[in-house]
Amino acid sequence: MTTLTHFSAGLVVGAIAQRYLPNSYLHGQTVYAISILASQLPDVNVFWKPLKTHHDDLTHYPIFWVGMSALTAIVEYVLHKTPTIGFIIFISTILHMFLDTFGWSIGLRWLAPFSMHEFSFTPLEKDKVDFDNRAKLQSLFRHISFKYEILVNLLFWCLFLALK
Ligand SMILES: [Zn+2]
Repeated sequence: MTTLTHFSAGLVVGAIAQRYLPNSYLHGQTVYAISILASQLPDVNVFWKPLKTHHDDLTHYPIFWVGMSALTAIVEYVLHKTPTIGFIIFISTILHMFLDTFGWSIGLRWLAPFSMHEFSFTPLEKDKVDFDNRAKLQSLFRHISFKYEILVNLLFWCLFLALK
């Protein structure tokens, strides 16, 4: 899904962390900053990979984020006696990849690196990726993933407003 949807997801994770992790040593705005940043983290590879193959990278392997968040949680627990940031990174990045499984042209390799099978809840239109920009956008706007995108954003904003 798009950056906007991952941003909305980050807001919801931040609101949940604020509400259900009350003993956090972090300030409210810091929690939001971390959850919004973590919700975008898997897409950092668009700076070095083409959009159409950016899910084929380590940053979109769930096991990588399980490891990173566990490592963060352990270090944080030793330093602050709470795994808040590790928890936020885990929820934000796994949610990112769950949302990316509702794709238009690319799915997600949930079992990588053990299996490179690409999972998708929506039918993928891989052949449309190489169309010109106008045809690409037309295909994207007609695709079911775009409707999910709007629906998920509305849901996340309602959740965020209800939780904050
Ligand atoms: Zn992504």
